Amino acid sequence: MTAAVKWPYYSRLASSLSPYVPGEQPKDGKFIKLNTNENPYPPSPKVYEAIRNAADGKLRLYPDPSSTAYREAVASRWNISTEQVFAGNGSDEILAFAFAAFFNSRNDEGAEPILFPNISYSFYPVYAALWNILYRTPELDGEFQINPADYMQKCGGVILANPNAPTGRILDVKALGKIAEAQDKNGRVLIVDEAYISFADLPGAGSMIPCFNEHPNILVIHTLSKDASLAGMRTAYAAGSAELINGLCRVRDSFNSYTMDRLVQAASAAAVSDTAYYDEINAKVRRTRDRCAAALGSLGFTVVPSQTNFIFVSPPSPVAAAELFAELRDRGILVRHFNLPLIDNYLRISMGTDDEMDILINACREIIAGH
Ligand code: PMP
Repeated sequence: MTAAVKWPYYSRLASSLSPYVPGEQPKDGKFIKLNTNENPYPPSPKVYEAIRNAADGKLRLYPDPSSTAYREAVASRWNISTEQVFAGNGSDEILAFAFAAFFNSRNDEGAEPILFPNISYSFYPVYAALWNILYRTPELDGEFQINPADYMQKCGGVILANPNAPTGRILDVKALGKIAEAQDKNGRVLIVDEAYISFADLPGAGSMIPCFNEHPNILVIHTLSKDASLAGMRTAYAAGSAELINGLCRVRDSFNSYTMDRLVQAASAAAVSDTAYYDEINAKVRRTRDRCAAALGSLGFTVVPSQTNFIFVSPPSPVAAAELFAELRDRGILVRHFNLPLIDNYLRISMGTDDEMDILINACREIIAGH
């Protein structure tokens, strides 16, 4: 996050914001990019075909504001109804809408703080500040695990990344169901940000989408940036009860009715329909993750067990994470370092191809040996 700035022409809101800073996107293409959790494999060939077919004279017309074909494809993928699906321009956009739709601002009567973990996706406090929402951040335990009981108390609502980022740890479906139940009694919403759920493979872990008929207060957000190799298109969806989805539409249609262009709608529908292709590449990413975690573990790294397409690791002393980050960058390898309390001696490393990870592992080996 960047600091607040004062400037006479800015509104009080614009002056007070501390915007999110995304990971570096180098322009020269010389880096091995392991810093923003993109998929190392290309999108399905069916996505390219869909984009080619959609690139015609109809581009002069506005797109379908409801993204019907995309939402139908998602509904069929999860066996839910189209009214239970919302389409958005990346999950960052859907998250921004969801904060506005389901969490009260501090000025609203009886507003209570929302809850999210002290270590989680660093955009959450930014949205809270944008919409003037109070929040509290229960601490993860010493192994970066969430204590579900922390999220069952009375509050303004809950948002959890599951698996969590940047830690990579996961809560199982049962634990999330209990949190949803507690918040339902409290009349509040549980948002589950499932950006990385396709990389989870522990027994009992999985998407909450099949559960929301029992839990009308769960909103699940799922991006196509990671598991569908479409970070460059900006596309995501949310699933939940028709009433929750309608809440998101109310906010979107007070902001921009056409968030999804014709090409992205066609590409997204093709991507969510091609589960065979994506199951295969994402299984490959999981295998790379497990191999890479073991290799860095044997070099003396502390490796947090990961259920995502990245690993969260701390180098063996005397090498500090900030130092390793800089030395890897000098060698043309970009990873992510968060200069934040409790995690400043950790690096988040996204999974690349096996060849790219071999280069990373060898570079780590040499840097550690050089100390
Ligand atoms: N949620 C989490 C937990 C993430 O790590 C990210 C990626 N930065 C997002 C949401 C945003 O993803 P999208 O590309 O769909 O905006």
